Amino acid sequence: MITPVLEQALLEGRAMLPGGEVATYIPELGKANPGHLGICLRTLDGKRFQAGDTDVRFSMQSIAKVIALAVALELCGFDAVFDKVGMEPSGDAFNSLVKLEVSSSHPYNPMINSGAIVVCSCIEPELTFKELLRRTRMLCMDPDIRLDDAVFRSEMTHISRNRAIAYLLESKGIIAGNVERVLELYVRLCSLSVTAESLASLGLLLASGGVNPDTGERLLQPCTVQTVTTIMMTCGMYDGSGEFAVRVGIPSKSGVGGGILSTVSQRMGIGIFGPALDPKGNSVAGVRMLEYLSRQLGLHLFSQESRESVYRRLGLSVPPPPESSPPVPATP
Ligand code: GLU
Repeated sequence: MITPVLEQALLEGRAMLPGGEVATYIPELGKANPGHLGICLRTLDGKRFQAGDTDVRFSMQSIAKVIALAVALELCGFDAVFDKVGMEPSGDAFNSLVKLEVSSSHPYNPMINSGAIVVCSCIEPELTFKELLRRTRMLCMDPDIRLDDAVFRSEMTHISRNRAIAYLLESKGIIAGNVERVLELYVRLCSLSVTAESLASLGLLLASGGVNPDTGERLLQPCTVQTVTTIMMTCGMYDGSGEFAVRVGIPSKSGVGGGILSTVSQRMGIGIFGPALDPKGNSVAGVRMLEYLSRQLGLHLFSQESRESVYRRLGLSVPPPPESSPPVPATP
């Protein structure tokens, strides 16, 4: 019953494609096929559904900020990370440095470039890129994730704005150490190539509170998952995060490579690839598909339709309620 809903979501998304454009400010991203569109959905009870171009690899771009934040929280702890970066939506574009210069002593949140560069500065002294790649593969349950060298080199030769942000952060004493190495780590992370399925798996891991449901292995602490998911909800869709929260209500993070990572707590992970973007940098078809799915499957965090009613509407048998998850230790 889910597959026809996904197929219809794909049609809804495809209708939006003429209104989108691929990113070109990193020249290699401009080579993406704007007609590509795929969606993968993985549920906590072990089911996997997909439609469209789900095996095409693309670079994670900003979605890597979720991984960077999760890894930094696990490595350095909540206080060390949030001493240097805030938790407020900025309402500005992802690469803006205006507020950082004019009205704030630190980046607004870890989902904008300045915040993610700070987060990478916490990780850089602790982990090699090889180790970070190993962790990313585990978190996305995808051993084939690798660095897309062409995207990496393309971004490194068009890095002026992020370099300006990084040195502004250094001048304010927010990041220390080797700025160039921090920048390189940030760009490497953004250049990791994934599929819609790898993103669905990462979403599933978050939905299950940090435990890989296939192996039972805990990869993230519950408090990390709670923090990361909340920040995805408030800041994950660029300066469209507020409207997305109202219309879709699913914690998500998008990237200019066309990916969207979404997670529905205790239920499912969703991964999308659609490189035609809206003016804010979100996959134009991806946003439409998530809005459709949220309505059809009752996925909005504040949905007023009961789970039982959604299952009945879809003609599915109503599953037993999920086992209660372990209590999340209070956020420090
Ligand atoms: N690597 C990209 C940049 O820093 C990521 C941007 C994004 O996906 O929002 O510009």
